[in-house]
This record gives sequence, C-alpha cells and structure tokens, in this order.
Amino acid sequence: MARLIGLVKSLGGYMALAIFMGLTGHLCAAFITILGGYGVLAALRFEIPFTLRGIFISVLIFAILRGFLRYAEQACNHFIAFTLLALLRDRVFRALRRLCPARLEGRDKGDLISVITSDIELLEVFYAHTISPAAIAFLFTIVMCLFIGSFHWILGSIALAAYFSVGIIIPLVTSKASGDNGLRFRTKSGELSGFVLDNLRGLSEILQYGQGKKRLLQMNEKTDTLSTEEEKMKRVAGRNMAVTSTAVLAFDLIILFVSAWLYQSKIVGFDGVLIPTLALFSSFGPVIALAALGSTLQNTFAAGNRVLDILDETPVVEEICGKPEILFSGAEAKNVSFSYGSETILSNVSVIVPEHAVVGIVGRSGSGKSTLLKLFMRFWQVQKGAVLLSGKSVEEINTGNLRDMESFVTQETHLFHDSIRNNLRIAKLDASDKEIEAACKKASVHDFILTLPQGYDTPVGELGDTLSGGECQRLGLARAFLHDAPFLLLDEPTSNLDSLNEGIILKSLREERACKTVVLVSHRQSTMRIADTVYSVEYGRMS
Ligand code: ATP
Ligand code: MG
Repeated sequence: MARLIGLVKSLGGYMALAIFMGLTGHLCAAFITILGGYGVLAALRFEIPFTLRGIFISVLIFAILRGFLRYAEQACNHFIAFTLLALLRDRVFRALRRLCPARLEGRDKGDLISVITSDIELLEVFYAHTISPAAIAFLFTIVMCLFIGSFHWILGSIALAAYFSVGIIIPLVTSKASGDNGLRFRTKSGELSGFVLDNLRGLSEILQYGQGKKRLLQMNEKTDTLSTEEEKMKRVAGRNMAVTSTAVLAFDLIILFVSAWLYQSKIVGFDGVLIPTLALFSSFGPVIALAALGSTLQNTFAAGNRVLDILDETPVVEEICGKPEILFSGAEAKNVSFSYGSETILSNVSVIVPEHAVVGIVGRSGSGKSTLLKLFMRFWQVQKGAVLLSGKSVEEINTGNLRDMESFVTQETHLFHDSIRNNLRIAKLDASDKEIEAACKKASVHDFILTLPQGYDTPVGELGDTLSGGECQRLGLARAFLHDAPFLLLDEPTSNLDSLNEGIILKSLREERACKTVVLVSHRQSTMRIADTVYSVEYGRMS
C-alpha cells in the first residue's frame, strides 16, 4: 500500500485539494441538517445563536457549495486516478520491454493481458476512492466529534466510537473475513483469460481432434470457480453493508437515548438532545464510504500486487547503454555453455564467424541451434564462455548498437495486425517505398504482394493468419533485408519454401555477401550449400 501511495507523490497538490474540497463538502452537507435542527429550535421559540433568516441563507449557500465541492472533489480524484493509471501502464509496458524476451517466454499471455487491462483498471478504485476518502473521513471525524462534544463530552465520545466502529473496525473485520478472496479472484480471472486465448489460438486443433466438448467443460469449470469466488466476495460485501447499516442505526439510537437521559438529568438543554442527534444522523457519509471499501480493498490490493510484481521482476539481461559505439567486424562464440534452468543445452560450444562469411549450423531438432542464435542476440546470458562481436563481449556493447548490427530472422515470423507495408517498416521506420520493394524482391515476395488486391497496403490478419507459412517466412526475410544490418542470423529461413523461392533467396544472400556476414541454421542440404563453413551441434556440443 505504501508503494501504491508513493506513486501519488508527484500529484500531492491535487490530492490536498481533493481532500480539502471533500472535507468542506461533507461538512456543508452535515451542517445543512444541523442548521435545520437550529431552525426547528427557533420555531419552538428556543434561544439560538443565529437568526432564522441567517439559517435559511446559510442552508442555501451550503447546498450550492455542497454540489459544487462534490463535483470538484470527484473531478480532482479522477484526474489523479487516471493520470496515475496512465503512468502505471507506461511503467508496466517499460517493464515488459525490459523483461522481453527471456522472462516472457513460457509466461501465460492471457494472464499478462489481464494484469495490463483489468488489474491496472482496478487501481482506479484505490486512487480515486480510497486515499482521499480516508483522509477526509479522518479530518471530518475530528471536526464532528469536537462539535458534538461541545454539547457534552459523553456525546462527543459516543460520536467518536460510532465513527471509529463504522469507519475502521467494521471494514477491518470484513477485510480480514474476505481473506485472500481478492487475490484468488484476480488470479482465477487471469487464468480464465489465458485459457480462452489458448483455445482461440488452438481452435483448428480443437476442432480436428474433437476436443470441443472437453474444452468447453473445462471453460465452464473455470467460469464456475470464478463465479464462486466472486459470490464469496459479494457475500462478504453484503454482510458488511448489513452490519454497517445496523451499527449506524444502533449508534443513532444510543446518542438519542443518552442525550435524552442527560436532558432529564438537566445536564444539557433541549438543543443538546436535538442538535447532537441530528449531527450524528447526518454525518455518517464519509465513514460509510470507507466501510464500503473494506470488501473491495483486498481485491484492489491483489491487483496492485500483481502489477507491482511485474514492475519488480528482474530481467535476465539488463539493457546496456553508455559504452562506445562499435562497428561490426566478425563474431565468435567462445567456449559457450548455456542452460535454461538446470537443463544444459549448450556445453563448451565454439563458433567463429569471420566477416563476410556464411557460417552454417546444423544439428538435430532440439540440439540448441536457435538457442545459440538467441545468445548472439543477447536475449539470454551465457553461463560460461563468451559471445563476442568485433572482438567485444556482447555484454560490453550498447543494446541499441547490438540490435543495429544484427538482423535476426526467427523460425516463426510474427506479423502484426496491420498492412504489409507497416509490418515491413518496423525493420526500418523511415524506409522509403523503393527500399521496401527492393527488400521484398530480394526475399522473393514482391511479385506475390503485387497480386494482392491492395498490394503493399493489404492488411495482414492477426498473427499472419491470412498468409501462408512460406509467405510469412519470406516477409520475415524481407524485414531482415530492409533492416540492412551487417550481421544476419537466419534460423531456418527456407524451411517453408519451394525450391524456386529458395533459389531466389539464396541468390540474394550470395549477392549480399560483399557487405554481410551470415549465420545460417537449416536442416536443408540445398540451403547449406552456400555456407563456407558448417558447424554441427550434437547434444549441445560441437562435433
Ligand atoms: P529445432 O531444429 O527444432 O528448431 P533447435 O536446435 O533450434 O531445434 P532450440 O530451440 O535451441 O533447439 O532448443 C533447444 C532445447 O532448449 C530444446 O530442448 C527446448 O525444449 C529447450 N528450450 C528452448 N527454449 C526454452 C526456454 N525458454 N525454456 C526452457 N527450455 C527451452
Ligand atoms: Mg530452432
């Protein structure tokens, strides 16, 4: 909670303004009733410190002020909340960029989406409806206790007990009673999102293998668990509301009876009965607002924790900046050992990639070829040995500099839900249409794009669904050609291609040799033919 509050620091001025306006607004509301009480006293010909006319004018002013202040307080709080949500989203996206790609491999994407969308959204409750209401309730309680206490200290103490019970004890007890319901609900909700996303991605497999019913049952089960969790939370909230209302009525009665007794004992006058009772009747608003938070607070903190967890997670590799920029002049993996967790993937692997050479890497599936390329990209950190570019360890090279020197075509090309042109342009933001076309010609995909109804402006379906595997692959290669980095890392660039397209791409690679250095992973003999040297990885070792 302290960390969530810490984020508000920069908006402290707005927060103070919101608290001031909220407090004044609530006081206006309470004093409208209290002044009404004085009006009644005046009508009954009791001595009161104000004139009836003064009372009416004050009530009118308070009523108008109340409306205005309520609006201004809410506007202020929501300004704070939404500014902070924007800030938090920005931080989470930054964190995800830092964690990418190593920490996000294998992480439940649906759960991540649920953190980024609904969990952050829930924090609005904390920023707009928790911090300032708590401060308002605290200050309001002090003012009202002093006011009621000015008639008699016993009455002031009853008011204090009333506010304390409704605003602190009841929410604390309910929040304890709801335990970790909130966290469970948020986690389950994340799981459900992940499950739905997984099913959507695997829709064709589900249909093909007749898994629809089973998956539907699982989905129902997850939805039911989520509903049960929600039901539990709502039940606690309902109970909380019932207890709060009962407590409010009980304290109203207590103050009425005690003040009546004080009146009978001639300790206070009639005004000492009417005004304190009315004052307590009309002043539970701010503390009830706190009481209602009791049951949702757990949920909010659970969401906050999930968001902070992402912010706190340490990346596998830190971004490097501030080192001198270098130019590419060959690469090398020197006695590299690497494992994901405890499973050793590469052990003592050495590969030398001289400038302008094409180095091939072969090996059976799962032998660590893609992993080796990821190490050249510094997606992961080597455990032993070193990966060098231009004789410098990749850990000594600015991350931006490294990315500029390398183009990595992965085994699966990810296409964004955007036009083909924009999908290519991510490799070079200021690329001209001519450059894009030249890259596509090299990747043997230009003619295909021209056959599409909107050419380069044709939208690509989500995850490249509307293109064939070979078309996606060639677009991935076109990106790499467009990026125009001196060091090309190609992971199975021709696995989905027919020999005609493969031939065109290999020809382009051969032509690029004068200014490019290539590491090529492939299972295809025909592709490997252009390699000057071929390394073979077997069981994580060079052979
Ligand atoms: P293929 O020819 O099938 O593409 P590969 O040689 O490229 O295989 P890699 O992708 O490097 O193989 O994977 C090597 C091993 O590491 C595999 O056994 C794989 O299961 C494992 N592996 C890959 N990525 C991870 C990861 N993020 N976490 C844990 N294990 C991983
Ligand atoms: Mg691979």
